[in-house]
Amino acid sequence: MRILITGGSGFIGSHLAHRLLAEGNEVWVLDNLFSGALRNIEDLLGNERFTFLHQDVMDPFDVEVDQIYHLACPASPIYYQKDPVKTVRTSVEGAINVLDLARKTGARVLLTSTSEIYGDPEIHPQPESYRGNVSTIGPRACYDEGKRVSETLFFDYHRQYGVDIRVVRIFNTYGPRMAMNDGRVVSNFVVAALQGRDVEVYGDGSQTRSFCFVDDTAEALIRMMNQESFLGPVNIGNPDERTVKDLAEKAISLTGADVKIVYRELPQDDPVRRKPDISLAKEKLQWQPTITIDEGLTKTIAYFRETLGL
Ligand code: UDP
Repeated sequence: MRILITGGSGFIGSHLAHRLLAEGNEVWVLDNLFSGALRNIEDLLGNERFTFLHQDVMDPFDVEVDQIYHLACPASPIYYQKDPVKTVRTSVEGAINVLDLARKTGARVLLTSTSEIYGDPEIHPQPESYRGNVSTIGPRACYDEGKRVSETLFFDYHRQYGVDIRVVRIFNTYGPRMAMNDGRVVSNFVVAALQGRDVEVYGDGSQTRSFCFVDDTAEALIRMMNQESFLGPVNIGNPDERTVKDLAEKAISLTGADVKIVYRELPQDDPVRRKPDISLAKEKLQWQPTITIDEGLTKTIAYFRETLGL
């Protein structure tokens, strides 16, 4: 198949690109390298079934493909808050561009939405039917509301124009090729510990997240794309809920670092609890995560050790 991945040089996109190429597909990656990195796909550049398009998803493009994975959007608070207006525009105009391309070519198009659309959730764990508790005006709104309207556009293009859509909501994901400097908790903790710096927990560390290893996430996206009947939205994440403090302790013990936990101010609108209800993914995709936090963190630590030249 001919497959386009927007945002394909980012963390999750690059894993998809590697897998889909290894499975024998032709792969196009479109990325403006704002938060993605060329080194994530460098080893693919010489492959004759691989093409890299260095451009912004907001600018028009035209590729004859069978499937589109639409990931392009800065996804970590540090990046999506750098230029919040652009984050909103990327969500809206980027979605319209890929949907117009899908409409024209007949390609199936999958949106990677996010658990952020649930905001600071009032029900726990979060099922897909939960409509969320999102601030429209806070610092996270550019991303949260941007992704909410991306979902709206996907379903409207489906109803209005018959575009063949799939929508997934990705919860916290981690693993090799995470950006080192994007402020994500797993990369922050692991890199700090490996460099012998204290691990900074925001707030008292009692807030929770549920961390899914990227290989499990990529498998879920591919399954969602390749089944015929279910459009989503579907939660993709690991229901193994952890406090941030617990994660900090794990990062320290698995790296064997001689560092301590220090506490910093909690950012505004930081969700208190987050855990996916993945019943629908289990039922519709026969999918659930297989990689434990200890296995996944060990692989992630090995990646950062190598990247840091340690
Ligand atoms: N966090 C932290 N220390 C860090 C980075 C993040 O304690 O160095 C906390 C952050 O406040 C949040 C959680 O870890 O409660 C997850 O943060 P991340 O930015 O990775 O993801 P998100 O908040 O989007 O789920």
